[in-house]
Amino acid sequence: MLRTWNKLALTPKILIAMALALPMGAFLNGLTETAPWLQTYITDGILHVGGQLFIQALKMIVVPLVFCSLFMGVYTIGNLAELGRIGLKSFLLYMFTTAFAITTGLTLALSFNIGQGLDLTTMATQNIMIATPDSFSNILIQLIPSNILKSLAEGKMLSIIVAGILLGIAALKSGKEGKIIANTLNALNRLISKLVEMVMAFAPFAVFCLVTKVFAEKGLHLIIPLLGYFSTVAGALAIHFFVTLHFLLRAYKIPPLVILLKVRTAILFAFSTASSSATIPISKRCLTQHVGISNAVTSFTVPFGATLNMDGTSIMQGVAAVFIANIYGIDLTVLNYLTIMGMAIMASIGTAGIPGVGLIMLSMVLAQVNIPVEGIGLIIGVDRLLDMMRTAVNVAGDAVVSTIVAKSEGEIDKETFENPHLA
Ligand code: ASP
Repeated sequence: MLRTWNKLALTPKILIAMALALPMGAFLNGLTETAPWLQTYITDGILHVGGQLFIQALKMIVVPLVFCSLFMGVYTIGNLAELGRIGLKSFLLYMFTTAFAITTGLTLALSFNIGQGLDLTTMATQNIMIATPDSFSNILIQLIPSNILKSLAEGKMLSIIVAGILLGIAALKSGKEGKIIANTLNALNRLISKLVEMVMAFAPFAVFCLVTKVFAEKGLHLIIPLLGYFSTVAGALAIHFFVTLHFLLRAYKIPPLVILLKVRTAILFAFSTASSSATIPISKRCLTQHVGISNAVTSFTVPFGATLNMDGTSIMQGVAAVFIANIYGIDLTVLNYLTIMGMAIMASIGTAGIPGVGLIMLSMVLAQVNIPVEGIGLIIGVDRLLDMMRTAVNVAGDAVVSTIVAKSEGEIDKETFENPHLA
């Protein structure tokens, strides 16, 4: 049995882990009342530690990986005009897909008029601590790190990206000295890739821990009173994933199924961890080693996407805004909907790729159109599950845009792309 397991590839192992996690989580959830020790020792003990160890290891990798690979990306591209083109193309595509996503979310929410007729007084609400989101101007100012080491230590992704690019350009312009640093960072980059392989070996166990814990804590019964909201978000996510991204790839003559297969491990990871940021090492690995995109392009587009591109999150925000407005009996005007769209796009730039932040940023969207921010307390109970789904869509969107940009730049290795075994 162990031998058969060892022979399996990583993705089937993760799928098996997930399939086992669902019934196990539901089982533990049913026993929380009668056997509280299960919660203490299994859910908050083994499962929590097992899952968090893995997330910590991924987080440990993300910062040096993003910094080194961006530096190397810039250094190997060596051509600032090409770099600017890749940056602009990916930025525009990221914004376009997010705008499309929120339109899908709003359209679906309005067609079903979700939340209409629900009585606020009978709804379970949870008190929430809403953090104040960073203002847009602050996000812009902080793009340039005043202290690179501080940004690295705090994992501030956008400023790390900018620091990596600036130092890469500086290295390009410095001749011999630049080469010395580039060689060192290249070696570090390889070492980090090895570390990714090592950490990935624990992925099935970690995924089992993470997913079981979610279902053990959040029984599926929580969804029932919010079924309309839950299924509208899930439906809009599915439309974006299966229809919008599909046609976008087709428009660029890229076979969608091939991409889906080649990046499926990253999508499963995103689902299990609910963190685009923690998924960066896996996305980068899938896109370079399986799809065949050059390291120079993925070094840029993957961390950029994990930070800026949140298609799934903006869908949730659009649907949530309509749901909460309807529950509070607020009529939204066309201008309000446009504001929601604009704010959700901006919020997606400011949303860190970690669990639950999309909900915090929702307060920024709601406040702009005078919808009570406390309304978030109504949907928080089902958010973790939706967070897993939307993060999978966020990461899929990053992969699609990376592939399109790489194709338009002729940066995909044909042999790797056509090799069905590299998936
Ligand atoms: N968890 C999401 C991500 O990492 C962000 C969010 O919507 O909360 O992409």
